[in-house]
Amino acid sequence: MVGYTISTKGATSSNLAEFSQQVNQTLNDGRGWAQLGVSFQEVSSGGSFNLILSEAALVPSFSSACDTEWSCRVGKSVIINDNRWGGASAAWNAAGGSLRDYRHMVVNHEVGHWLGHGHLGCTGAGQPAPVMQQQSISLEGCTFNPWPLASELWSTQLGVR
Ligand SMILES: [Zn+2]
Repeated sequence: MVGYTISTKGATSSNLAEFSQQVNQTLNDGRGWAQLGVSFQEVSSGGSFNLILSEAALVPSFSSACDTEWSCRVGKSVIINDNRWGGASAAWNAAGGSLRDYRHMVVNHEVGHWLGHGHLGCTGAGQPAPVMQQQSISLEGCTFNPWPLASELWSTQLGVR
C-alpha cells in the first residue's frame, strides 16, 4: 500500500471532496499505475507523497521550476493546478478530450514523476500519447491518452521493473 495525503494551498475553487474521490479512483484504476501491483490509499498525515490542489498563482511557490499555468511535482509534493483541474487545457479541449480524462491524465502524469519518470515525446502520428508526454501543452500528432502505456509500467521509486 502506498499512502498519500490530500491538501490544498491558497484559495482553490474546486470541490475538495470530489478531488479526493477522483484522485483515488484514478490511482487505483486497473488502467493506471495500480498495474505496478500496488494500491494507493489516502492517509491523514505522513504518506509517501502529498497531493496538493493549489491555487494557480501559488504553484511557483513550490519551486522556481513550476509556473502558474501548469501542474508540477517537487520531491514528495505532487501539485495539481486548480485551474487545470477545473478546466483542463486549451490543447486538450481543442482535441476533444473530456475533463474527467484530463483529470486522470494530470494525476497519472504528475504521480508518474514521483514514481521516477521523466518526459516522453509522441512516437508517431495517430499513436496514443505516453502518459509522460506533456499532453496539456501539445499532443504532437498523438491521440490523447490518460493512462500509462505498457512500456511505462515501471517505477524506480517503488523498485518495480
Ligand atoms: Zn511533467
